[in-house]
Amino acid sequence: MTPAPLRPPPHAEVVIIGGGVIGTSAAFHLAEAGVDVMLLERDELASGSTSKAAGGVRAMFSDPVNIELGLRSLAAFERFGERPGGEIDLAQHGYLFLLDNPDDVAAFESSVALQNRLGVPSRMLDVAQACAMSPYVDPDGLLAAAFSPRDGHCTPEAVVQGYAAGARAHGAVIRRHCEVTGIAAADGHITGVRTATGEVRTGTVICAAGAWSAAVGDMVGVPLPVRPLRRQVLVSEPVPDLPPGLPFTIDFGSTFYFHPEGPGLLMGMSDPEEDFGFDTSRNDAWLGRFAEVAARRAPRLAEVGIAHGWAGLYDMSPDHNAVVGEAPSVSRFLYATGFSGHGFLQGPAIGEVLRDLVLGRPPAVDVSGLDVRRFAHDRSRPERNCV
Ligand SMILES: Cc1cc2nc3c(=O)[nH]c(=O)nc-3n(C[C@H](O)[C@H](O)[C@H](O)COP(=O)(O)OP(=O)(O)OC[C@H]3O[C@@H](n4cnc5c(N)ncnc54)[C@H](O)[C@@H]3O)c2cc1C
Repeated sequence: MTPAPLRPPPHAEVVIIGGGVIGTSAAFHLAEAGVDVMLLERDELASGSTSKAAGGVRAMFSDPVNIELGLRSLAAFERFGERPGGEIDLAQHGYLFLLDNPDDVAAFESSVALQNRLGVPSRMLDVAQACAMSPYVDPDGLLAAAFSPRDGHCTPEAVVQGYAAGARAHGAVIRRHCEVTGIAAADGHITGVRTATGEVRTGTVICAAGAWSAAVGDMVGVPLPVRPLRRQVLVSEPVPDLPPGLPFTIDFGSTFYFHPEGPGLLMGMSDPEEDFGFDTSRNDAWLGRFAEVAARRAPRLAEVGIAHGWAGLYDMSPDHNAVVGEAPSVSRFLYATGFSGHGFLQGPAIGEVLRDLVLGRPPAVDVSGLDVRRFAHDRSRPERNCV
């Protein structure tokens, strides 16, 4: 039974809109720093994109900011049991990108060199090495691969619950089933948020509303160019003789990927036919395209039975890179959204960054290049290692 919505307390120094990985991580880091923070989630915690994620965590990116955010987050995932606490099933068997195009090989060679300079232990592999590491892979057409052993995957809902429990332990208020319906501002300053069950006075709002962020930005006249894009995932029945230590394997050209999930495999792929929209129904046309690619790149997996699956939403920005910063037009409206498929893994570091932006100190990672104004000033910065 859905619990009756509780009236939120009348005041908080900072209100966070959205209870996914970004909102709960921000709540934890702010509460730990002694800030009076309230998180408002209209549904259940993690009920948005976070619980639909494949759980991949990595630092193998092309943009130095994403490499830094990934590295910082990996370190936080590794220590999650101590801070904030909780088991997140972290498996660090590496990310393996399979490459079948000379341009992609050249781009990954240069990304790997950059990653190495920034402290990521990634390396290029030949096709035989890649197939030995991920024995389901058919080498046909492959030219090379890139691998990083520290990457891996963990359980998104557990991360959210860990951050939420940690935030509460430091005094944060978290209200579920509490939709923010409006943001009040006067003379360019935020004065509060409206919810169905009452108003909360506040001077600072953080938009952590994922694929729904554009609507939150509209509440305060800040255009956030974030659009929802459906992505689908399948989980197989138990796979006999699952190779131990199987990496998160991605066929970069097709975006088909798989990684171990319990006794089976979690598999996914983007759909070039997909249009932007909030539809999260399962789709048979995608299934046909998925099966065709899987049969080509990992023929033994085409035989595996499917236990269940789901669809969720990527929060897409125009350059497939996050949109993080503080609005210049209204004080103080902060936003962290548009993660375009890599928001789960950046959750820990972005929570630290948001804490620092609220406190007015230099952020843990310099995210000035991710400010939303980049789109108006032709300073977009495409992230190439996206799937
Ligand atoms: C199939 C799939 C696979 C993915 N795989 C990965 C992966 O392997 N690795 C990775 O890093 N990322 C992955 N992602 C992307 C990742 O899930 C997202 O980038 C990330 O979860 C975004 O987190 P968030 O907290 O910003 O948003 P969300 O988790 O969507 O949270 C936003 C919350 O805001 C709430 N909300 C919205 N409007 C309001 C309002 N007005 N009032 C109150 N609450 C509101 C929503 O209910 C929602 O719970 C994947 C996504 C999908 C769909």
